[in-house]
Amino acid sequence: MIINEESKIWLFDYDLTLYGEEERHVLDSLDHRITLFVKRTTGVSLEQASEIRKKYWVDYGTTLAGLHAEYQVDPNDFFDFIHLNDGLIFPKKAPQKRILLESIKGKKYVFTNARKDWSDAGLSSMDIADCFDGVMDLKKLDWKGKPSVDAYDKMEAFLKKASINSFDENPSQIIFLEDSIRNLQEAHERGWTTIFVNATQQKPDWVDYQLDHLQSLKLLLEDPHV
Ligand SMILES: [Mg+2]
Repeated sequence: MIINEESKIWLFDYDLTLYGEEERHVLDSLDHRITLFVKRTTGVSLEQASEIRKKYWVDYGTTLAGLHAEYQVDPNDFFDFIHLNDGLIFPKKAPQKRILLESIKGKKYVFTNARKDWSDAGLSSMDIADCFDGVMDLKKLDWKGKPSVDAYDKMEAFLKKASINSFDENPSQIIFLEDSIRNLQEAHERGWTTIFVNATQQKPDWVDYQLDHLQSLKLLLEDPHV
């Protein structure tokens, strides 16, 4: 299959996919704000709050989903607090990434469990915001993010409305890049092409491709045997 053609629809996760592991301090800065929010909501110590943050992510898919289920937290209150620009770090300007994204044919969207203001700020910081045709964020997903089935239903419905390309007959036209395996599973079951962007974990057999870093996508785009 030729991967770099107009008929493809590219979906990029934001955190640790559009910026890599070498900038994990970006996500750490957000996780710290989330821990502070958990502490404030639950009244536990900072250390315990950090454990709850991680436990909810595992048990509920996102920390917010856990907070909503257990403490009826309003998603907007959560994001308004964690996105307060107090110690947050954003990825650095990325001219090579810009060249890479500009070389990709087809529509490009961000598909993120974050709220749009967080990913928008990061994309602007990297100077790649205008490389995308749109952002599907957690708010547009009605606060039910990946890996919930609803999130993928909404993404497909959004693409049907927004995109000039039809993928009904061939869902593999949708190419999804993600650093988290559990978020690729449902995509794979729908027939999307899956790309695992992760340098440390080995991909399972059912994942189509693996990249150690987003920038390695260049090799995949140029490979005639893909
Ligand atoms: Mg991610």
